[in-house]
Amino acid sequence: MFEYAPAPESRSIVDIASSYGLFIGGEFVDTRDGHTFKTISPASEEVLAEVTEAGPADVDAAVAAARRAYDRVWSKTPGRERAKYLYRIARILAERSREFAVLETLDNGKPIRESRDVDVPLASAWFFYYAGWADKLAYAGLGSDPQPVGVAGQIIPWNFPLMMLAWKIAPALAAGNTVVLKPAETTPLTALLFASVCQQAELPPGVVNIVTGAGATGQALVAHPDVDKIAFTGSTEVGKAIARAVAGTDTKVTLELGGKAANVIFDDAPVDQAVEGIVNGIFFNQGHVCCAGSRLLVQESVYDEVLERLKRRMATLRLGDPMDKNTDVGAINSREQLTRIRELSEVGDAEGAQRWSAACELPEHGFWFPPTIFTGVTQAHRIAREEIFGPVLSILTFRTPAEAVEKANNTPYGLSAGVWTEKGSRILWMADRLRAGVVWANTFNRFDPTSPFGGYKESGHGREGGRHGLEAYLR
Ligand code: NAP
Ligand code: MG
Repeated sequence: MFEYAPAPESRSIVDIASSYGLFIGGEFVDTRDGHTFKTISPASEEVLAEVTEAGPADVDAAVAAARRAYDRVWSKTPGRERAKYLYRIARILAERSREFAVLETLDNGKPIRESRDVDVPLASAWFFYYAGWADKLAYAGLGSDPQPVGVAGQIIPWNFPLMMLAWKIAPALAAGNTVVLKPAETTPLTALLFASVCQQAELPPGVVNIVTGAGATGQALVAHPDVDKIAFTGSTEVGKAIARAVAGTDTKVTLELGGKAANVIFDDAPVDQAVEGIVNGIFFNQGHVCCAGSRLLVQESVYDEVLERLKRRMATLRLGDPMDKNTDVGAINSREQLTRIRELSEVGDAEGAQRWSAACELPEHGFWFPPTIFTGVTQAHRIAREEIFGPVLSILTFRTPAEAVEKANNTPYGLSAGVWTEKGSRILWMADRLRAGVVWANTFNRFDPTSPFGGYKESGHGREGGRHGLEAYLR
């Protein structure tokens, strides 16, 4: 294996304040009834900043600011004018991309290569795409004069903090809604930097409000009587609690929850390409991906070859400092998540699956887990059924296409799936039968603002992205 010289990205491009207030009504304000907490870098456990944990009175003030902005300004702003703000935000995100990438990597632990090449460009692309819709809503297939829903409460997870923010805010604003967004507790900083982008774009005050905090802040937002719509991405468990909380009210809800995607390798697939797809499917973003290809289904006739090449490829993955441009696998986002990954992996051992990880040195500080595969996994194993949300792959085999479909669909989830084969007809045959919102063919973990994304069954309901993504924010 090659030795690489260190290639650290400089963090001097970003100014992190020692403490942050809440972004309400276009400015940063102190909390009314909340507390503070510290956000750390999961790669070093260094404290990055002190952040506000918004209390119910803060949430109330944010919703009131969003309501005022909706009634007085945003609902009266024509689509072609809203579009200009969205274009402006998209452009500023692109101009300040390096700042956002560095901050995302520091706060989240993901490799700078990914925040630089995936998260930030996609966030900008989402605003560009929905800017284009703002004055064309009558052509979205939702009636000739669709109306905004009003005030949207949006709750997002820690795995793609800025990108999830863009997925939520861009369509909401394009459709004429105002928003109150709660970022995840462990990754609030890029949302707060985004607040400064809203100021820079001269977005009318109150159109976007950011309340940082933990689960209780999210709960207060869900329970608020003046919120017209809740958009949530996160765990199935919290998603179910939200569905229960709004049941019987006229609050609209979209839920984007977990997954346990099958990545299916047929014996005619180009093996090296498929191995890259397996690696990208499960080790991208440390496997903290709701649509991760966490269940590998390999056709028996090529199992030995695929496994051998996969191990060889995994031995070349570079784990370590996320700020180094050579790093492939960064830090696990939090101590809690690391504990969960360790526990489920131990369950895998106890259930009799065989664990293998490439030899790699884990840094002394921070939260780390080596890229790991389990073989000898059966469908009954918990590691084949539950979302691990880490760099852990469960490998199963199949003989016939019908068996592949049956195994792939044997899950309470239905978010995504992958198919690797030379045959176009087989791709279509599989895509017809896989119960998953997204089916990738000879690729994996590809996102594009024009393409709808979302799940079946316990993976949630509603679509984000594309024309379909507008539906959640229009009546
Ligand atoms: P989570 O608890 O569902 O968190 C998602 C968001 O909801 C966060 O902003 C969270 O705040 C907030 N929240 C928590 N409890 C809430 C409540 N009762 N009402 C309203 N909002 C609430 O997910 P997590 O704890 O970060 O991760 C747990 C598991 O969820 C992971 O292991 C993974 O399996 C799954 N997950 C899935 C996705 C996905 O993209 N589908 C993303 C992340 C996690 P705090 O962050 O402050 O708790
Ligand atoms: Mg949490």
